[in-house]
Amino acid sequence: MSKNKQNKENTNLLDTNRKINPLKDSLRIAIWYSIFGLLWITISDFLLYWLVSDNDLELRIATAKGWLFVILTVVFIFLTVRRRIDIIKDFVDKMILTKKVLSSTEEELLIQKAITEEIIGKAPVIIIIWDQNGELKSVNPYAFEVLGYKDDLQFYSNWQDFITTSDNIANLSQVFKRLQVEGRLVNYETELITKSGSKVYVIWNSGILDRKDSGNTEYVSFGVDITERRNAENTLKGIAYTDTLTGLPNRVALENEVKRRLAKIESKFALLYLDLDNFKYVNDSLGHHVGDELLKYLANCISKVIKSKDYVARLGGDEFAIIIGNYTKKDQVFDLIDKIKQEAGKTWYIYNHSFYISLSIGVALYPDNGTEVNLLSKNADIAMYSSKSEGKDRIMFFEETIEQNNLYHIEMAKKLQNAIESSEFELYYQPIFTLADNTIHGFEALLRWNEVSRGFISPAEFIPLAENTGQIYAIERWVFQSALSQKKAWNANGFNDITLSINLSSKTLISDVSFAIIESYLKEFNDDLSTVVVEITETALITDMHKVIMRVEKLKELGVKIALDDFGTGYSSLTHIKLLPVDIVKLDRSFISQVENKGKDEMIVSSVIELVKKLDHQLVAEGIETQDQYDYLVNNKVELGQGFLMSKPIPIQSVNLLLEKMRQPSNEKRDD
Ligand code: C2E
Ligand code: MG
Ligand code: MG
Repeated sequence: MSKNKQNKENTNLLDTNRKINPLKDSLRIAIWYSIFGLLWITISDFLLYWLVSDNDLELRIATAKGWLFVILTVVFIFLTVRRRIDIIKDFVDKMILTKKVLSSTEEELLIQKAITEEIIGKAPVIIIIWDQNGELKSVNPYAFEVLGYKDDLQFYSNWQDFITTSDNIANLSQVFKRLQVEGRLVNYETELITKSGSKVYVIWNSGILDRKDSGNTEYVSFGVDITERRNAENTLKGIAYTDTLTGLPNRVALENEVKRRLAKIESKFALLYLDLDNFKYVNDSLGHHVGDELLKYLANCISKVIKSKDYVARLGGDEFAIIIGNYTKKDQVFDLIDKIKQEAGKTWYIYNHSFYISLSIGVALYPDNGTEVNLLSKNADIAMYSSKSEGKDRIMFFEETIEQNNLYHIEMAKKLQNAIESSEFELYYQPIFTLADNTIHGFEALLRWNEVSRGFISPAEFIPLAENTGQIYAIERWVFQSALSQKKAWNANGFNDITLSINLSSKTLISDVSFAIIESYLKEFNDDLSTVVVEITETALITDMHKVIMRVEKLKELGVKIALDDFGTGYSSLTHIKLLPVDIVKLDRSFISQVENKGKDEMIVSSVIELVKKLDHQLVAEGIETQDQYDYLVNNKVELGQGFLMSKPIPIQSVNLLLEKMRQPSNEKRDD
């Protein structure tokens, strides 16, 4: 029997239409009986007296009347009492049935209560009941277990203070409000603090509790502890958004942060891209573990300097990005960069090596240089590359002109392509002198580009561009072919002793294909290569040290001499001279110009000269412009030198004339 049906019957049993009122009913029976008795006696006696005159008959009728009275009253009593007893019996039967039903319902309720208590007590779900004032009414044991409280009383008063962070209190009061308005809230997450101070994450479903007995509105919340899942998610998130080496946010996290700031329509902010200058050099020369240490060191320097409204991320490799929040003046950006440079610019010591860290920095400003993440990043990147190509170790703010500059470079690259195809190049030669007697020792081949519309363009301008675009390979192949055929012609003319120096860019030196081609040109030269000098720079070492050393050795095996060009600039170090099997060291013009400064500068120059000589390398002084410099070099026994003082680079016709002139005195001598 279903419960509903049973309950319905129970109510029928207690139907009140057939009620018994003991006093009223007894009175009613007594009154009816008295009236009937009185009427019977009075009327029957009167009729008997009036109708019957025979005494004997009257006595017999009186007796029969008495019997009739008894019969009638018996029938009356039977009928009235029977009806009542029927009702009473009915009621008692129903009572018995009701009792049975009630006791089975009670039994069922007890079972259900036990089940409910079992669920509330043992279910791994937080169940709390609270009222509209946020006061806790009931908390199940699992909630205490999760939160680490043992039914402590303190938990009940100001419970929010115990289990919520200050951030979360606002969130929680929002939840209360929404629940009061909407009556039901599903799947919302909150962060709670346990008694021991750790965090737990709980997902809630709440609703209004329908309790007619209580005047207050009460709410019930069911919470599931999702801390483990959340922690796993956070770990995954951490991996997805963190750079594992430095622990800083990564590129994805940075983009999100920029988007977040853009969405908030935050007042101005600056996006900085930082690139560590010559990082590859550190990596290649000292190994990746040192490179990693350097990146961590830099990450630490930046983190120390930036403020809470700022943000730092590692984009990958040696690139970092910083967001400077809420700046009002460009000066603030400069100040921060200055602090970073001061912090990072201190000499960095590791494994007995010391480094000076320099940074190329590009800045894009919001909103001036873009109002969306891609444009801002692109512009910060353009500015950073521009600061690199301008010579590194500098800050560049994005400007339209940088972009125009890029367009200019694209235009130049096109023209350069044309120049390669239509032979707009020419080689000039700068004589290298034996300083002691001012005689010509050899020549350095220097490239000249005679561009149709602009005239001569300096190699200092187009070679770095050609290196960036890869056009250097074709150019350098042309240079080697032309210079070597020139040298062949000199040899054929008896100028075998005249050396020819050819510059080889680090790009070609480390390129597998182009290097093999240059190598094949040298092999095909088929003549004495001992008076051919290949000039390389230290920048090659920064790119790929091991490869460079291998390649230099290969060139030497072919018979050419190797010169280390521009020594005294950039990353000059005596270690490089030691590492590279060079024959000649060319002292850079900037180095030579210091000899006129008396004191420390001059002392450094003289000791470097001494050292290089001791290492058994031939020395060439570059960029000699004054007689004083010349004299100094002669006095310090520098063997060779080139410079405007003696001769600028000259075209081949002038070289040939010079060589012929050189021959003449000896011819004249022979003639004598
Ligand atoms: P570099 O190899 O160090 O060449 C010497 C540069 O110094 C030349 O500049 C030369 O004209 C200049 N110079 C020589 N003496 C003096 C002087 O007394 N005073 C001053 N102010 N300058 C002097 P140039 O020809 O403009 O070449 C610049 C650089 O371009 C070269 O420096 C070299 O690194 C590069 N370069 C030139 N030709 C080639 C080439 O064929 N291949 C490669 N890879 N690089 C080249
Ligand atoms: Mg050179
Ligand atoms: Mg040089």
